[in-house]
Amino acid sequence: MNIATLPRFPLAQLPTPLEALPRLSRKLGGPQLHIKRDDQTGLALGGNKTRKLEFLVGQALAQGADTLITAGAAQSNHCRQTAAAAAKAGLRCHLLLNGDTPGQIPNGNLLLDGLVGAVVHWIERRERATRLNQLSAALREQKLNPYVIGVGGSNGVGATGYVLAMQELVEQLRVGQQAVDHIVFGSSSGGTQAGMVLGAKIAGFTGRLHGVGIDKEDRDRGPYEDELAQIANECAEYIGSNVRLTKSDFEVVYGYVGGGYGVVGDLEREAIRTAASYEGIILDPVYAGRAFGAMLDLIRKGAFKSGETVLFWHTGGAPALFAYAADLV
Ligand SMILES: *Cc1c(COP(=O)(O)O)cnc(C)c1O
Repeated sequence: MNIATLPRFPLAQLPTPLEALPRLSRKLGGPQLHIKRDDQTGLALGGNKTRKLEFLVGQALAQGADTLITAGAAQSNHCRQTAAAAAKAGLRCHLLLNGDTPGQIPNGNLLLDGLVGAVVHWIERRERATRLNQLSAALREQKLNPYVIGVGGSNGVGATGYVLAMQELVEQLRVGQQAVDHIVFGSSSGGTQAGMVLGAKIAGFTGRLHGVGIDKEDRDRGPYEDELAQIANECAEYIGSNVRLTKSDFEVVYGYVGGGYGVVGDLEREAIRTAASYEGIILDPVYAGRAFGAMLDLIRKGAFKSGETVLFWHTGGAPALFAYAADLV
């Protein structure tokens, strides 16, 4: 392994805290619950993309880039953290966001995108690839050197951040003489899950990793696991590990998409209120709220034994809450 020699730009406050959830564990009367606070990575209100961006921005700088380009939803946490990373690294940033120019005053992640100085382009989602290419070409024409980060920063380079995150957790568990049987987290573009599962193999973590499909329907079963294996193997190659994974190494939890991506339902509302009112932990409406809701549902259905320990890996996203206020009151 050669992670220590790979280009990396420091952005995250690490290690993120590992905390117990005693009040919630007691209330639910099931497994012992813990939480890994990647909502506290520190960059512009934090989140899981910060870990990926350390390696993505590292590579961008190593290649002499002066501009970052990425794309996502209007309330993308990935875009907000990329824009903040660009600011910190002294790079320009262009974001391609889905939708029409909003009429209202920007809120949530979108407000922060503007504050950190990103240039926002409103596009239709289906023209994303074309618009990315056009923008890159236009910037090169202006003698700039853009570095394109794919949606969610989920490639072999970005996933490296989660290989290290898993090593970080294993070390925290060793020092605390704790064991974790299950890890639950939201999974969408896949870099987080791919990196975690690869990291678990490398670090010898034997618990089960359950990635809750945030936008994955039953028809994605199979293709999504293939995609996860592909990102993980690209990552293994990047970091010089001999480990290779196949689709059967990945556990994706389906059935929690509700009304669709970014649509808040009772599952998310209950999860957000439960985490907030029992532990003072703020989840987000799109990812962590849904994944936490899935975990509560699985506990209710008896999916975990009462003597087991379940760790919820909080991937961040709370800035989006303010843009979803009307769905939460
Ligand atoms: C992007 C994101 C995820 C999903 O991570 P992927 O690596 O895209 O699978 C989960 N939670 C939050 C808050 C995110 O912003």
